[in-house]
Amino acid sequence: MNNRDRNFTKAKLERRRQQIEESVARYLAQLDTADRQEPTDVLVAKTDRLKEKITRLEQEMERLDGLEAQMLASPDRQISLTDPDARSMSSSGRGTGVVGYNVQTAVDTEHHLIVTHEVTNIGTDRAQLSGMAKKAKAVLEVERLDVVADRGYFASEEILASEQAGITVTLPKPMTSRAKAEGRFGKADFVYLPEQDVYRCPAGDMLTYRYTNVEAGLTVSRYWTSACPKCPIKAQCTPGKERRVTRWKHESVLEAMQDRLDANPDAMRIRRQTVEHPFGTLKARMGSTHFLTKTKPRVSTEMALHVLAYNFTRVLNIMGSKAILKAIAS
Ligand code: SF4
Repeated sequence: MNNRDRNFTKAKLERRRQQIEESVARYLAQLDTADRQEPTDVLVAKTDRLKEKITRLEQEMERLDGLEAQMLASPDRQISLTDPDARSMSSSGRGTGVVGYNVQTAVDTEHHLIVTHEVTNIGTDRAQLSGMAKKAKAVLEVERLDVVADRGYFASEEILASEQAGITVTLPKPMTSRAKAEGRFGKADFVYLPEQDVYRCPAGDMLTYRYTNVEAGLTVSRYWTSACPKCPIKAQCTPGKERRVTRWKHESVLEAMQDRLDANPDAMRIRRQTVEHPFGTLKARMGSTHFLTKTKPRVSTEMALHVLAYNFTRVLNIMGSKAILKAIAS
């Protein structure tokens, strides 16, 4: 899934850069953690994978530099400022905003056809995941569906709702950890052991279950150990009396998602390549003005026509005109 208006914008590039920096920082921290442990085969493999990930991210950073140079050479941030339906949208989730529409799309990874789309003037993608994924599943008439989305769609409830609808989601978790930002261990450094319902901390202690609460509509449990005050690496862990780890009731859904991402490190590259194809084509066809019409119903119709035209030429390219004419005739 992606948001057309935000593609190719400076805000998007900056956001991506920031994400890469955060990912690199996270991987480096994981490497640090790995360095403190006894080297085992599994650990060596993990370390190698982390190094590979870092190299790939560095390459991606170089690609972004090239993209930015191209973008600066062809300024095209034309947005309808006079359209009453347009809303100021957060383009990075960090305060910057553009005015326009948010076009949600689901694109199939094999043929790059747009399976479904929707024009909204909701500024963020956070609440869009399960709705779009369910629409795509209905269009495709499949029992199960795998969806790869970017981290702007990360919302625990949306991921759970998708999972419950038979849709497996893969997307990276945004970095929101304060501990991590302050250079301390992040939650990823604590390993959950389901049989014992405990977390193993970087010092090897077990954080046991303490209590359950409902916070911001989510049922969460807290875990901690009384070993913290005497812990030799406490400074890297918590400035408080003890380190507490929070676990959502459905955290296993998020853990399974992280495992999928770790098992398929190419998922996000495939997502990007998949959405770049339709967006590149649509952008070229729509030109720099993006939408010719105003107000949401008209913009929705205009977008639907663009999607239809894109899909039609895509099918034409995949099947060839003879096969299409034959299919139409039969
Ligand atoms: S401070 Fe507590 S939770 Fe953190 S590493 Fe030490 S014992 Fe484990």
